[in-house]
Amino acid sequence: MLEIAALQRRIRACRLCQEHGYLARAYPLVSGRATDRVMVIGQAPGHRSITNDRPFSGPGGRILQKWLERAGFPPGYLHEHTYLTSLTRCDPGKNLHGEGDRRPSPAEMALCRPFLDAELHLLRPQVVLLLGTMAIEAFFGKMRLDDVIGTYQEREETFFLPLPHPSGVSRWLNDSAHQRLLEQALAHLAAWRVMYEL
Ligand code: SF4
Repeated sequence: MLEIAALQRRIRACRLCQEHGYLARAYPLVSGRATDRVMVIGQAPGHRSITNDRPFSGPGGRILQKWLERAGFPPGYLHEHTYLTSLTRCDPGKNLHGEGDRRPSPAEMALCRPFLDAELHLLRPQVVLLLGTMAIEAFFGKMRLDDVIGTYQEREETFFLPLPHPSGVSRWLNDSAHQRLLEQALAHLAAWRVMYEL
């Protein structure tokens, strides 16, 4: 319990990307409790999450909560019982076209990865939800969403479940075949919820 709290303090104090010139201002976001058994790994927090000091504060968070409810979890589960983390912890800012969030660079992800590995090691979650292509590839290697959504991997008694990114920017879910793959993924999650009393 204390170890997670100490790790979160270290993450909050991190300014590595600012010191390396990757970010104008580092402001790391952390959220989660040592008792959480479901972890969500996203790409990076957006400006809304940083402003609210709460990951998944925007529409993506609402959609993800709805997906959890489709798997049988109660309202509020996402922010009250899920450890919310990401490949990098600071807002990378807008992309070059100013239309969406910039993808964190490999260098930024490499600087931040030890924090994520430490969280996984300390928390040992039952289930890890990998949100979107970047988070999926960080754990499974290069894969097409079509091939990986609906599947999962078990590693050291933790289930890693890939999910599409819930933000409205992704058009992948517009295809009904892809919706069926999402249903398959949520069915795995629903089974683990019952089996492990999540
Ligand atoms: S993104 Fe990660 S490594 Fe970079 S400054 Fe923020 S917490 Fe530190």
